[in-house]
Amino acid sequence: MTSLSDLPIRDDLRGLTPYGAPQIDVPVRLNTNENPYGPSAELVADLASAVASAAADLNRYPDRDAVALRTDLADYLGHGLTADRVWAANGSNEVLQQILQAFGGPGRTAMGFEPSYSMHPIIARGASTEWISGAREEDFGLDAEKAVAAIEEHRPDVVFLTSPNNPTGTALPLSAVARVLRAAPGIVVVDEAYHEFARSGTPSALTLLPDHPRLIVTRTMSKAFAMAGTRVGYLAAAPAVVEALLLVRLPYHLSTLTQAAARVAVAHRAELLGAVDRLRAERDATVDWLRGRGLEAADSDANFVLYGRFADRRMVWEALLAEGVLVREVGPPEWLRVSVGTGEEMAAFRAAMRAVMEELL
Ligand code: PMP
Repeated sequence: MTSLSDLPIRDDLRGLTPYGAPQIDVPVRLNTNENPYGPSAELVADLASAVASAAADLNRYPDRDAVALRTDLADYLGHGLTADRVWAANGSNEVLQQILQAFGGPGRTAMGFEPSYSMHPIIARGASTEWISGAREEDFGLDAEKAVAAIEEHRPDVVFLTSPNNPTGTALPLSAVARVLRAAPGIVVVDEAYHEFARSGTPSALTLLPDHPRLIVTRTMSKAFAMAGTRVGYLAAAPAVVEALLLVRLPYHLSTLTQAAARVAVAHRAELLGAVDRLRAERDATVDWLRGRGLEAADSDANFVLYGRFADRRMVWEALLAEGVLVREVGPPEWLRVSVGTGEEMAAFRAAMRAVMEELL
């Protein structure tokens, strides 16, 4: 049998292992920052009927430019946005890939400030874009002046700012984003996958778009919108940025069924986003509880909490799994990340943590 190493694979992919959180079937899954609340029976019925009508046309290719969906998403985002300033793809990961295909590539560089979303460097590599690792501060915030110095030193073609940041939950002040925009020579991507969970009053980088034609703000339907299985992510930017992405996207990349389901989800946003307040309250309670147990927990503007520190986090992760609770081993070495689930799931998490701390710590 031919093994992977026998194949004429690209040198920069040799010896790598695929990205991915373990998909383990356990009672309490708190490892991929999903929204724990599924659609109501009424919404399921609406999704099914939209998919059924779309199915009658499945002999035809979908709307290549997904104009109706982009119009709906622009309306959701507000800020005076219109379909020509919004783009959508199969998850924000694909949106990010298209950005790097258009603005990165061989001989070009992309830079992020870590710890941050580990797919950014992986997507960059897939797009043959060299990754430059910048650093966040001890409290996981960004020192804007240090970030500017790093940008001036490396002059990256694409800068990633993740706000709220994964896996730390840290939101950036708009002043820091604006400062980076002034210094960056190329594209600045603000990955706002978790924006809807931010504490009230945290402004979106969307407000900076009118004055910054090289700014791209990415969002997703996988988190607050509770539609991770639909695979829809999107961005807002200047119309010329969307034109650039049309040069690299595959024709008909968003299936007819995806577009139909996503439009129903956007129409039902009141229901889908209805759990956000509950999840925020559960998140804040989780931070307080962990701190009350003598642990560290990072302030979070997202639907997860990074907590620690554990000399052997693998051991804690395994012990929690044995209790039926799956969290994520990600981020700085002594920390774990727990996604915010339902009230019941968080009670199970606390019970498991209590048991593990009595047993191990
Ligand atoms: N950006 C960030 C910061 C994320 O955490 C994630 C998902 N974990 C994504 C983008 C990608 O999500 P999706 O492809 O489901 O939209």
